[in-house]
Amino acid sequence: MRAFAPFTREILKIDTHAHFFPTIGKEEAESFMFAKPPWLNINGDDSAMMMDGDTEYRLVQSPLWDPVDRLKEMDDNEIDVQIISPTPLLFSYTSDPKNVARWSARINDFGAASCEANPQRLYSLCQVPLQDIDQARVEVSRSMAAGHVGVHLGTHVNGRNFDDPEMIRFLHYCATEGIPVLIHPWDMMAPERMPKYMLQWLVGMPAETHLSILSLILSGAFERLPTDLKVCFAHGGGSFAMLLGRLDNAWHRHELVRQDCPRPPSEYVERFSVDSAVFDDKTLRFLLDVMGDTRVMMGSDYPFPLGEIHPGEMIKNSELIDDATKQTVLCDNAANFFGITND
Ligand SMILES: [Zn+2]
Repeated sequence: MRAFAPFTREILKIDTHAHFFPTIGKEEAESFMFAKPPWLNINGDDSAMMMDGDTEYRLVQSPLWDPVDRLKEMDDNEIDVQIISPTPLLFSYTSDPKNVARWSARINDFGAASCEANPQRLYSLCQVPLQDIDQARVEVSRSMAAGHVGVHLGTHVNGRNFDDPEMIRFLHYCATEGIPVLIHPWDMMAPERMPKYMLQWLVGMPAETHLSILSLILSGAFERLPTDLKVCFAHGGGSFAMLLGRLDNAWHRHELVRQDCPRPPSEYVERFSVDSAVFDDKTLRFLLDVMGDTRVMMGSDYPFPLGEIHPGEMIKNSELIDDATKQTVLCDNAANFFGITND
């Protein structure tokens, strides 16, 4: 177990939702033999274009791939620790799992190497070829042995939700091996209806995350999974908290909703965590009331377009959250979840 650096700030800030992208160029990406591999087209001026095959995906800056620049920006933002995870574009769940196993290993090795720039401040999550659970298990265990502190998964694999027996088998493996899981929306539903206005981020992502949580609750998956499974959903759990009353109401009134789920959905809230990326003080207060103080941890979605510009500032400056809860959300919950310590 690695320890934090001995910081002097009153409350440490751990950002659990921050992404990286490896310096993989076009030629190397294509050597992994699957269609439209993502890669990074570095411009030489500290910026780069994230590429999705031949399509320009997003203009990004050097902290995304350079850990030294990342640490400088963390200093500017007063972020003590980041848990870095692969950019979801890299998941590659639709391609041949053998190739994606090699690809994931390359990405994960880059993530682990990035943390060596300051092992007390940077911790990494790995990705896995989730379309093949046997290979996913091999890669997650290899990565954990190499120093990763958990695994980063998409909300579905090619339309299969987390109630799929193979997905549950992977979560079961993570539980028995003590591997924390962060679930992030990707490959959003109904993109043809959301071509403009960032609707895939504003509607698709919260809906994806909500669906992912409900697939675990209503299928009874949480009844079959060990209670010590550590699973966290990004973006405050998407639409879940606001719709929990609707969900409980439906469970009480319709056999169709409760047929595989023996307890009211609100009783499963204690089985998972969410990050704090909701961007509004009152919403965060509500999220804490629904989830409980120990199941919300700071996450900013750094450094992407809808990430918190000054990570952790909203929590720190909130007048709706007491100091003890700020400590819990900014630091303690993440330290417990990922098994890192400042002792
Ligand atoms: Zn993200």
